[in-house]
Amino acid sequence: MYLVLLGPPGAGKGTQAKRLAEKLGLPHISTGDILRQNVLLDTDLGRQAKDIMEQGLLVPDDLVAKMLDGRFNNPDIKKGFILDGYPRTLSQAYSLDEILASKGLAVDLVVYLDSSDQVIIKRLTGRLTCSKCGANFHTINMPPKVKGLCDSCQGPLYQRSDDVEITVCKRLEVYKQQVTSLIEYYKKAKKLHSLNADLGAQVVLNQIIELLVSVKA
Ligand code: AMP
Repeated sequence: MYLVLLGPPGAGKGTQAKRLAEKLGLPHISTGDILRQNVLLDTDLGRQAKDIMEQGLLVPDDLVAKMLDGRFNNPDIKKGFILDGYPRTLSQAYSLDEILASKGLAVDLVVYLDSSDQVIIKRLTGRLTCSKCGANFHTINMPPKVKGLCDSCQGPLYQRSDDVEITVCKRLEVYKQQVTSLIEYYKKAKKLHSLNADLGAQVVLNQIIELLVSVKA
């Protein structure tokens, strides 16, 4: 199953992708995570992406395409993947189709996690991320059992530098500039299914699983 999770920052793509990847035994590929790892390791790509990410802007398509092409050479994608945070532009959607077609593969399903600005701002400005395993918590909605530490791996929690309100608003603005053409593209391809991502994470997960079952059938 080649599944793409589309939606605004804070819609829960990462949370759903992690749970689905575990449940289905598929790799979770998050372009945001790969970029953050590159920033942390101070690679060439990380140095080029750092400032752009901190401003809430998009890293240039060619850089992300090259990075993803490398990731897709890993044989673990033979069974499928859960793609989170890519594509973000129409040109990335074309690149994705091209890369997959060159391997005889194609996207099966695009789930659009729709969420309101109000919910997104609350979710992201209160989000805490584990620096070790990437798990997400929330200061109010989902606090960790021990303050400042991840429930799963005890790694230290931090607030992503792009989760401050001014950058969240910028990320939302950038997202809105791109999303309409992406939605049209996947609608035309009859691959798009929308869900209300303002609902609880477990409700949304169950709905995605129902969709996956219906697509497989
Ligand atoms: P995310 O973790 O998906 O919220 O992504 C964090 C940041 O990484 C974004 O605000 C962008 O700066 C960058 N980024 C992640 N994925 C992409 C992408 N597909 N294209 C361009 N920039 C991206």
